[in-house]
Amino acid sequence: MADVRIGIVGCAGRMGRTLIQQIHTTEGVSLSGGTEAPGHAEIGADLGSLIGSDDLGLKVSDENLPLFANSDAVLDFTVPAATLAHAALAAQARIVHVIGTTGLEDADEAKILAASKHARIIKAGNFSLGVNLVAELTRQLASTLGEEFDVEIIEMHHRHKVDAPSGTAMMLGEAAAEGRDRALGEVAVRGRDGITGERRPGDIGFASLRGGNVVGDHTVIFAADNERIEITHRAADRAIFARGAIRAAIWGQDKDPGLYDMADVLGFGK
Ligand code: NAD
Repeated sequence: MADVRIGIVGCAGRMGRTLIQQIHTTEGVSLSGGTEAPGHAEIGADLGSLIGSDDLGLKVSDENLPLFANSDAVLDFTVPAATLAHAALAAQARIVHVIGTTGLEDADEAKILAASKHARIIKAGNFSLGVNLVAELTRQLASTLGEEFDVEIIEMHHRHKVDAPSGTAMMLGEAAAEGRDRALGEVAVRGRDGITGERRPGDIGFASLRGGNVVGDHTVIFAADNERIEITHRAADRAIFARGAIRAAIWGQDKDPGLYDMADVLGFGK
């Protein structure tokens, strides 16, 4: 079978470089190219130079149309505004769009849903197998334990991260809310400061820490009187997200247009 041709938007970013490395060393996929934001310092550089390897014969470009036309899937770990434009291009090109970008607003999500009428979009706040298992456990615990167990979610990331709470923390919060048949928007408390009043039963709290080069730590706490359950996931290398994103790109090849997540790719029944 021919290789799945995968393009990377934002190829000079932290995740972009990790994706080049992983595609380069994964069987059954080949790199079709990479783009960056107009004016980026790496435009014109060979993609190999971004990962400190020999030339790969592909240059960083700022033109998305040829990339989408020559790819079976595009991996997108960029910024919300760029991701929306990419989703529209993926819909036109009828290809698989794997979205890892976080910090999307509700209005952005609606545009992505609209694009998924024509594109096969796989979007996840976290593409690692481990975090998706933690989300599944969180859903089950929240459903079983009930609201006498308060749910709090703590995350820590490197000093360069620009959005908070992390996309993964929100994904874990969604899982807890789903387990309790609640809408996360009604129960989320996204940070506390000053005289906050007592905790409301059923709230799902978030706390964000930033520092150093932490790739991503998440803990979900279920706290009741006299007992506490804590589940922690620590990511030590971005390769775990890259491998999941490539797996999603391959999985999406024979799917109908629609909006999917990593639980679909991994086959977790929800
Ligand atoms: P980064 O800032 O290192 O990389 C983002 C890249 O996107 C930059 O190189 C930037 O120049 C590029 N970009 C911006 N606009 C563009 C455009 N119009 N066209 C092409 N490229 C453009 O950030 P990062 O650490 O790689 O993270 C990127 C995103 O992925 C963040 O939202 C982060 O939270 C998310 N992320 C998600 C997962 C996951 O598993 N879902 C894992 C890690 C990071």
